[in-house]
Amino acid sequence: GCMNSLLLNTDGVQIPQLGYGVFQVPADEAEQAVATALQAGYRHIDTAAAYGNEEGVGRAVRASGLPREKVFVTTKLWNGDHGRAEAAFDESLTRLGLDHVDLYLIHWPVPRQDKYVEAWKAMERIYRDGRAKAIGVSNFTVGALTRLMEETDITPAINQIELHPYLQQRELRAFHEANGILTEAWSPLGQGKGLLTDPALTVLSEKCGRTPAQIVLRWQLQLGNVVIPKSVTPARIKENIDVFDFILDTETMAAIGAMNRGQRIGPDPDTFN
Ligand code: NAD
Repeated sequence: GCMNSLLLNTDGVQIPQLGYGVFQVPADEAEQAVATALQAGYRHIDTAAAYGNEEGVGRAVRASGLPREKVFVTTKLWNGDHGRAEAAFDESLTRLGLDHVDLYLIHWPVPRQDKYVEAWKAMERIYRDGRAKAIGVSNFTVGALTRLMEETDITPAINQIELHPYLQQRELRAFHEANGILTEAWSPLGQGKGLLTDPALTVLSEKCGRTPAQIVLRWQLQLGNVVIPKSVTPARIKENIDVFDFILDTETMAAIGAMNRGQRIGPDPDTFN
């Protein structure tokens, strides 16, 4: 389908707004899953050192026949590696079998460890070397972002955070917008679970003639979020990218807006890990 891209605060770098996430995709299934996603039209893959599947992701990207510049690849620095970010980055590149990534993220701030400023300074060097076309963070709070911006040179391009209709993150989204940081939603479908069968969504799904997953993804896109839904089921992989030919009206956007409960699925960034 037709894929919308957003401009990062890094000169000229664009990110496809909808990507494919591979958290919990087993190492031996990752290559096939990513190949299916690329065939379905995804041009943005979100992995992490911690997911243990960078090899499979890299194999699929390299075997796809797509020019490298047509696929946006993100990976992440794991928590125990904040003090050795450049070495950890090299290890990720080796596992991916690529000479650069498009986006490199600090996976969690781990405030108790207090090394994310040091890690960010290493990421700035990686960015300046051109080995990551953009750098960003994940699971950063307003406090952690503010400290990073005060103590380092480069503003993160993106903050990848848990965000779905039950956890809408309005404060962080406003902070990002005020500072030129893109919001990227992880677990954009609330991991499937209760969200996709919530009666409030069923009603909208019937009204729009789209699945609950498609309604939620469309809501995310219209908010301006980057989204990285995960599925290993080919039919769902296709369903999740088939969201560029309809628009939710203001009323529908507001109905989903009213579903916010401030309810996390994942860990609290202030205490993890
Ligand atoms: P998600 O919200 O994408 O939900 C995935 C689950 O929803 C699937 O396993 C499946 O059970 C269900 N699902 C998917 N498509 C569906 C459909 N069309 N219909 C019905 N059910 C469907 O959750 P996620 O995998 O946790 O998050 C997506 C991606 O975000 C991850 O793969 C990863 O790349 C990223 N992520 C990042 C962090 C972080 O700390 N930065 C944390 C979690 C996830």
